[in-house]
Order: sequence, then C-alpha cells, then structure tokens
Amino acid sequence: MTFITRFAPSPTGPLHLGHAYSALLSHDMAMAQGGRFLLRIEDIDQSRARPQWESQIFEDLQWLGLSWPRPVMRQSDRLPRYGQILAQLRALGLTYPCGCKRADIEAAAGAPQEGVPQFGPDGRIYPGTCRQRPMTTASDRDVIRLDMEKAVKLARLHPFTETATPNAGQQPLDPDQLQRCVGDIVLARRNMGTSYHLSVVVDDADQGITHVTRGVDLFEATQIHVLLQILLDLPTPIYHHHALIRDQAGKRLAKRDDARAIAKYRSEGATPQDIRALVGLS
Ligand code: GLU
Repeated sequence: MTFITRFAPSPTGPLHLGHAYSALLSHDMAMAQGGRFLLRIEDIDQSRARPQWESQIFEDLQWLGLSWPRPVMRQSDRLPRYGQILAQLRALGLTYPCGCKRADIEAAAGAPQEGVPQFGPDGRIYPGTCRQRPMTTASDRDVIRLDMEKAVKLARLHPFTETATPNAGQQPLDPDQLQRCVGDIVLARRNMGTSYHLSVVVDDADQGITHVTRGVDLFEATQIHVLLQILLDLPTPIYHHHALIRDQAGKRLAKRDDARAIAKYRSEGATPQDIRALVGLS
C-alpha cells in the first residue's frame, strides 16, 4: 500500500507538545508502512505567519529526529493554484460573493432556536443573506462562499474512512447535516484568495497524500474537505484524527501556551526521547 502523509503546521507561534505528538505519530505511521512523511507550511494568513516561527518549526522537527523531502510546500507560494480551483467551483455555479460583517451575520441569524445549531466547523453558520448575489458583483471587500444547497445537490456524496478511535469506520456525508450544521462555508477570505478548507484540499491532492493524520479537533471539518474533493474530482485520503494532548487541567494546548513549547523543553535539557515519553509515544 502507498502511504504518504504530512504534517501541516501554521507558522503563527511555537510548536508545542500537541504538535510534537501529531508530527511524531504521523512520521511513525509512515515509517511503519514504508511510506513517506511530508511537511507543508500553512501560511496563507500572512497577517499572522512569521518567518522566525517557520525556522523554529524546521529546527524543532529536526531536533525531534524527523526528516522530510525538500523543498517543502508553502501555501503562500500557491495562490495562483488556489485561484484556478476557485474558478472551477465558480464555473460549476457554486460560489457567491458575500460582504456581510460579523455583526450583520449575527443580526441576520436572529435569536438562538432550540435544535438549530448556530456554529459549525467553519464558525457561525451563515444565514444566506448574500446567496443570490452573482459573482459579477464580487469586490475586494467580499469573501467568496460555497452555496451548500447547490453543492450537495451536485455532488455524488461518498463516505470517508476514519482509522482512529472513537470515530473509526466509514463516515458517510449527510446532505442535510452539511446544509444545517455546516452551511455556506468561506472558500476565499478577504485579501487571501483562499481559505484553510480550500487550500488543504488542493494541497493534499497535489502532494499525493494518501493518509491524513491530524487532531480530532478537525474531525468535523473533514466532511467539508471530502465534499470539496468530490466536487473537484480529487481523491479522498484515509483520515486518522488523533486525540489531543491536554494540560494537567484537561485543557487543550494552544499556540499561546508557550509553557508547553518544544523549544522550552529543549532549553531546559529535555531529549527527544523525553518528548516522546511525555506525549505517550515510545
Ligand atoms: N494548519 C493546521 C493547524 O496548524 C493543520 C491543518 C491540517 O492538518 O489539515 O492546525
């Protein structure tokens, strides 16, 4: 079996124990299968990405004992590619521009109603205010959204395979769930020309990724990724959404938790083996 996986950090802060776990697990799984481990720098948010964080990522991962082919894929180099993909979705009649501000969306969504979800894996579920706007009216002030109702009508939905507990098994995509609990996701953010969902789908396909190993916090977003793969006629990898590393209080680690930064452990004399032991990999 071909096994190509990746670790895809955003250079917006120090890598912490949670990242170390994800990268080591992904790498170990690839090595166990005689496969390949790739690195990708997810830096489309240029307002937050910093070159020094990128250098620190390379240093920390090398120190952990990981290696990967170079040059690495960097999302900020691929904006024309994302533009092509957006044009494909536009040609399918699935996109529309939206100039709503956060406050407009909250106001249009109205008071919370029982049984109606307000938030999904792409944030607040969009109430559809701009859905009828033609793409010819798009301006710099707009984001581009996916018309989910049209998308699920067009796509021949298929399940994806999950290999990690507690979700292991075939995961069907449900058109009703996609419309009610995900909604019209953003495909291209203002001043970015793309979004996390669009880029990750195109990059995984272009890197030939067969197995995606990442945190369970992205499990709900995977239905969006699989839908986009179907619409764009791209292969669907096998997914492994692993548990998150938490601090003593049970809280998940965030970028700002510098206390758990790999660099901090290093400076205090920890070895890569100590880090493996800390995250439960030996
Ligand atoms: N760039 C994302 C992050 O740092 C990971 C995305 C992914 O693995 O699909 O959380």
